[in-house]
Amino acid sequence: MSHNTRVVTVGGVKIGGGNPIAVQSMTNTKTENIAETIEQIKELKEVGCDIIRVAVPSREAIEALPQIKKAINIPLVADIHFHWEYAIGALDAGADKIRINPGNIGKLEHVATIIEKAKEKGAAIRIGVNSGSLHPKYRKEEDMAIALVKSALEYVRFFEEMRFDNLVLAVKSSSVLDSIKAYRALAAETDYPLHLGITESGSLLSGTVKSSVGLGVLLAEGIGDTLRVSLSADPIHEIKVGFLILQSLGLRSFGPEIISCPTCGRCDIDVIPVVEEIERRLMKVRTPLKVAIMGCAVNGPGEAREADVGIAGGKREGVLFKGGKAIRKVAAEDMVEELMSEIEELITENQG
Ligand code: SF4
Repeated sequence: MSHNTRVVTVGGVKIGGGNPIAVQSMTNTKTENIAETIEQIKELKEVGCDIIRVAVPSREAIEALPQIKKAINIPLVADIHFHWEYAIGALDAGADKIRINPGNIGKLEHVATIIEKAKEKGAAIRIGVNSGSLHPKYRKEEDMAIALVKSALEYVRFFEEMRFDNLVLAVKSSSVLDSIKAYRALAAETDYPLHLGITESGSLLSGTVKSSVGLGVLLAEGIGDTLRVSLSADPIHEIKVGFLILQSLGLRSFGPEIISCPTCGRCDIDVIPVVEEIERRLMKVRTPLKVAIMGCAVNGPGEAREADVGIAGGKREGVLFKGGKAIRKVAAEDMVEELMSEIEELITENQG
């Protein structure tokens, strides 16, 4: 199935309705540390972050928002828990969207006040339900995935009664299977755009695997309009992993794709450092290119020929391929520079 969703606008970014799946991250600086927060947002933007969320756990954080917003050029989302008045403050301070979990805001009249303020400001709201803050009606539901969905829909009904539909929904769980089940069920019930994520998914490695599996299954089924990969790591990795998930499913292209072999006993060149260095240098490049870095003559020439630029290892040297043809031999120690010079030429041609 493919989940057809309505469009919700967050700042200048459109979510849902077939728009490109927006990749989000969240700063891990203290929001009230304005300079550090702005610097981190700029770094994240540079690697391609579409929308940024900041924690708003205090009045100082609210006071920091106008300056942060002024200094950045991607939509700003305020993450609010427990304090309804912080949501009002964040909206007054210019947040393009707020993320709340109505279950931990408390009284519905407070949620209603937030809704009225969001209407006045033209801001969007993400209802993010998680296992710790289910709607009271569903706290005894045994199936967590179903409890998440029923809670989210219960809150949606309340927002709709208040004539507010500028909504994005999330039902994240730290369980990959519960998340898949919950998002599938939610997609069957509503056309609001869905924000995908596996919450508290762990370290760079385990979080990447859990997010790739969970989000990958859903995205391959056409479910999901925006995503955040949650990692206990530098948020830059959240963006990179999000891109790679989308790119591997052919849903968005963010720049070069690197094809590299896993290396084995046949390997004639030091593939791993070459791959790491090329990946590092291409991190901010947005030109869609295929770059192959292969260790020997078994699969090397085939992959290198199919790529825009490629190298196939030989004895302490490699054969450089471009546009499907072998163009020259290069010494092992020159591979990075030689590959980069061909890649840069292609980037310039592409820009021209
Ligand atoms: S390309 Fe060669 S070195 Fe690389 S994994 Fe395959 S056989 Fe091994």
